[in-house]
Amino acid sequence: MKNIKDILPTRTPMREQEPKVRARNFQEVPLGFSPEEARREAARCLGCIKPMCVTGCPVNVDIPAFIALVDQGEFAAAARKVKTTNALPAVCGRVCPQESQCEAKCILRHKMEPVAVGRLERFVADFERENDLVEIPEKASPKGKSVAVVGAGPAGLTVAGDLILAGYDVTIFEAFHKAGGVLMYGIPEFRLPKAIVEKEAAYLEKLGVKFELNQVIGRSITIQELLTEKGFSAVFIGVGAGLPSFMKIPGTDLGGVYSANEYLTRSNLMKAYLFPQYDTPIVLGKNVAVVGGGNVAMDAARTALRLGADTVTIVYRRSKTELPARAEEVHHAEEEGIQFKLLTNPTALHGDENGMVTRMTCLRMELGEPDASGRRSPVEIPGSEFEMPADLVIFAVGTGANPILTQSAEMQLNKWGYIIADEKGRTTLPGVWAGGDIVTGAATVIEAMGAGRAAAKDICKFLEAGAEGLRGQ
Ligand code: FAD
Ligand code: SF4
Repeated sequence: MKNIKDILPTRTPMREQEPKVRARNFQEVPLGFSPEEARREAARCLGCIKPMCVTGCPVNVDIPAFIALVDQGEFAAAARKVKTTNALPAVCGRVCPQESQCEAKCILRHKMEPVAVGRLERFVADFERENDLVEIPEKASPKGKSVAVVGAGPAGLTVAGDLILAGYDVTIFEAFHKAGGVLMYGIPEFRLPKAIVEKEAAYLEKLGVKFELNQVIGRSITIQELLTEKGFSAVFIGVGAGLPSFMKIPGTDLGGVYSANEYLTRSNLMKAYLFPQYDTPIVLGKNVAVVGGGNVAMDAARTALRLGADTVTIVYRRSKTELPARAEEVHHAEEEGIQFKLLTNPTALHGDENGMVTRMTCLRMELGEPDASGRRSPVEIPGSEFEMPADLVIFAVGTGANPILTQSAEMQLNKWGYIIADEKGRTTLPGVWAGGDIVTGAATVIEAMGAGRAAAKDICKFLEAGAEGLRGQ
């Protein structure tokens, strides 16, 4: 093991597009490590015998082992090491909240900056893909059974990848015309290039996974029909939590008021950002207000800026410390000129004679006692109303479970409409598993993937056990 005295105290910086330039284009913001930069950063890892970083990773990537391979210049081998537990390292290296997961546990943080685990994960995955070194692993011999996966987000893609390698026939049913879930329709190009997500789906197709796109399960086919008429032996549901929500304040029905989901879907999936090649209708505000403080709010705000807004303001009811977005996204948004009106809550939207939003009334807030989430709750300051101009208002205040599928299947739901499933993903409907946001509510990519992996393992066990397995559920 290395001596901490020999370790460089600061991380290797990652080159980025200049804030002024990138604020007006959709290309990726961080430019990635060069091989030299990656090796310099990898040399900072102590290779701990009891690596705390691994305990912070929801899928327990063997972090010291893959970083040791980077240190030796064995980049493709490092990528393969990560992939033994994380099927989407190019995605996770870009969007995981590492500062509260692996990097928050890195032993170095007591004395200096933690190892940049996420940046190294991104580097090895990009190196393998860009140099055409991705290997198609050997599949187990065919088991003669098929599994339906509903939803092509990170949870569904993980289940499909694991089951196809285990020798099962896998068909993914996806409502949209593209696979990827939030990775495709939610997270913008400047944070996660769509070509990366497309490659991941293409890789699964090469392995033999079939994709049935534009299929809304619950409407076109029911879960029961998948298990009976369609002949699938098991079903995994990974339909996410994409039902938009708005604040219950006057004026949300005005033109120019969007949920972040709709706004980002129009921009990303329907390619409004590629105007004029794609003429997707989208309101282009000059003074944009985004309500909320999570990753979704940052993505919507930075998208509005890139679509030509003069000012974009994040309106959030708590203080900066409580912002739930990844630290890097907040930092990037600030650098690009996004304004933050913190401890502020909208109370009404107002429009013009054409029914288009023009301004917003807000109240100032202060922090009171901690609430159920452990965060200090915002309390209104009486008489503190003020108005701000806003010709585009985007609500990024959380999402819910979409009832289209769940209403049509007889499984138990919790009081918010999310599917009840155990830690292996088993629902109360025999032969049906679920995981990701549709079970937990809005969470993270890596958690959805972790749930997918656990379910795939249990589905294998169940199918190997045959009909007994079904009765024993
Ligand atoms: P999803 O990714 O939501 O995928 C579900 C899929 O199911 C979708 O493709 C949907 O079209 C499909 N579907 C839905 N209903 C049906 C149906 N009836 N029939 C067929 N298909 C259906 N997490 C992070 O870790 N880091 C981040 O930086 C981050 N940023 C985010 C930014 C945005 C804008 C959003 C919205 C979320 C972000 N998240 C982030 C959260 C993360 O993306 C989700 O937790 C994760 O994608 C959940 O994965 P999932 O597979 O459960 O569902
Ligand atoms: Fe390396 Fe930090 Fe993990 Fe130790 S805790 S193995 S130093 S990344």
